[in-house]
Amino acid sequence: MTLGRLGPATAAVTTHVSRSSDATPPGMPVKGPLVDQFGRVVRKLRVSLTDRCNFRCLYCMPDGDVPWIPSEEILSVDEIERVVRICARMGVEKIRLTGGEPLLRPGVEEIVERIRGIPGIRAVSMTTNGFLLEEKAAALKAAGLQGINVSLDSLDRDRFRQLTRRDELERVLAGIRAAARAGLEPIKINAVVMRGINDGEIETFLRWAREQPVQLTIRFIEFMPLDGSNVWTRDLVYTADEILEQARRVAPVEEVHNDPSDPARLYRFADGRGTFGIIASVSRPFCHACDRIRLTADGKIRNCLFAVEEYDLREMLRAGATDGDIEQAIRRAVWVKWRGHLINQQGFVKPQRAMYAIGG
Ligand code: SAM
Ligand code: SF4
Repeated sequence: MTLGRLGPATAAVTTHVSRSSDATPPGMPVKGPLVDQFGRVVRKLRVSLTDRCNFRCLYCMPDGDVPWIPSEEILSVDEIERVVRICARMGVEKIRLTGGEPLLRPGVEEIVERIRGIPGIRAVSMTTNGFLLEEKAAALKAAGLQGINVSLDSLDRDRFRQLTRRDELERVLAGIRAAARAGLEPIKINAVVMRGINDGEIETFLRWAREQPVQLTIRFIEFMPLDGSNVWTRDLVYTADEILEQARRVAPVEEVHNDPSDPARLYRFADGRGTFGIIASVSRPFCHACDRIRLTADGKIRNCLFAVEEYDLREMLRAGATDGDIEQAIRRAVWVKWRGHLINQQGFVKPQRAMYAIGG
């Protein structure tokens, strides 16, 4: 398939933003762990530091002019720290910084350090496109960052450029090497697989990872309907089963005992040389064990990647709300989380925000 076949754009619905004055839903606990109506407990928070990005990945960003969030609407470092602190008091333990491209956020090292220092936070990690990693890896490590996920969808220069709309493969590879030198651990590689574009590279990726001197866990991600150009169609999704079939051509594969809350199902090669993961949000949804929520760069809580409703904290933060008020607003946002996303059902409604603006 060529990129020219992709399209056309379709309209998405407007995201509904709930106001902080919403009443407490019946049955919702007002203290204790952060729990939803189906009993799932939230332990992880993904914090988007910015929606800005220096890449234009085909599966994420619109091409051309991007409607960035105005800078005055982006949460300040103090505001981010406050929300994380409130979440940590309710049992959130792990923070992943994302975006947009989180390394474009000025003072990202300070953000890592401040979040790392919050009582109850056990780990701070990041998902990045790797472009600025070579220059920032050592400082991030010093600030307390642990794991890093680097997005890399192709090891072929032309295809990398086609997918990211940037000719920067070498720079991203240098970023991964710098992360290893700095001691960031674990290092995971995220590769979104699009049928007809990079689905032929799965074996290459796995063989490459097996040759590296440090452990790199590649996670193949099914293409989700969260792109900014509305190019997603079901036939572009290269499924977990198809990915596994290719992996088995490299060496015999066995499934690892999986943590159900990890979106990636993990596998290892029986010869002991490498593990890899598959994030099969489309063909094998894992909503039943979901333990995460998201904070967008402009201060909205999203209880699901595919949510069409958001819960505004920024207005509360800037209008003098108490920590207790904000805590209850977060509890309400989590309580109403749905049982699972509806990608595979008729009537699925694509969220208005694309991945770069949600914080993937
Ligand atoms: N800019 C950083 C990066 O690319 O790693 C962080 C933000 S990016 C939105 C987070 C992750 O979402 C990346 O690994 C990216 O590959 C993934 N992603 C973006 N759009 C996606 C889509 N439509 N389907 C599946 N994964 C997607
Ligand atoms: Fe930017 Fe990451 Fe989206 Fe690519 S996937 S456009 S690097 S935010």
